[in-house]
Amino acid sequence: MSRKLAKEISWLLVTIALLTMFSPHTADALTITTTRKLVVLDPGHGGKDTGISSTTGILEKRIVLKLARMTSKLLSDQYRSLLTRTTDTDLSETDRATFANQNKADLFLSLHLHAGKNKGFFFYFDTPDNTPATNETTWKTQGLIHRDKNRQTAELFAKNSQTRNKKVKTHFAPAPVISLEGLQMTAILTEPFTITDIPGTAAEQDAFLAPYAKTLARCIETYFENKF
Ligand SMILES: [Zn+2]
Repeated sequence: MSRKLAKEISWLLVTIALLTMFSPHTADALTITTTRKLVVLDPGHGGKDTGISSTTGILEKRIVLKLARMTSKLLSDQYRSLLTRTTDTDLSETDRATFANQNKADLFLSLHLHAGKNKGFFFYFDTPDNTPATNETTWKTQGLIHRDKNRQTAELFAKNSQTRNKKVKTHFAPAPVISLEGLQMTAILTEPFTITDIPGTAAEQDAFLAPYAKTLARCIETYFENKF
């Protein structure tokens, strides 16, 4: 580092210190943003990875992105939300986990679709052989450390979704979901409805997705209110 640069940096630090001391509003704003709970919504797939598709050409990657955007907008101002992707981009499972971990999310919700009938699924991470979680585990088994909380959260989401939409039978279950394995916070993956029911036009899709987005937003709020 050159001397000139070092001098400039130290002036910058003095300026920041002074600004912090004499602007209580800045400090208040910082406090508010850091204490509001954060949910990371993860629209699955993206880019070349389209996910599943319907016979009419509807792609999972597009629908889950729409659903994530709608859910995020419906969350109360008390909570913050971030999306792992906001466009049609390719994203690895590690990228998604790293994003949530680095942002210190309080809850991670991965959004996918299935091709069954009248069912809503809520999965939490577990290995097929129920390997017990230990402190020595690699980052890939972080999900096991949170297993009990994740199971309770999947159950909470499934039960609340069932109450809100009687037509869809909801289930919660353990699964070795790769996209949930490296997460350092409560994390679940949902497939709230089937791709075969999704209508064709954008307006019809919005109308179809709205109640699901509302249910997911209310589930997220209930999760935070329960202080899990
Ligand atoms: Zn998927």
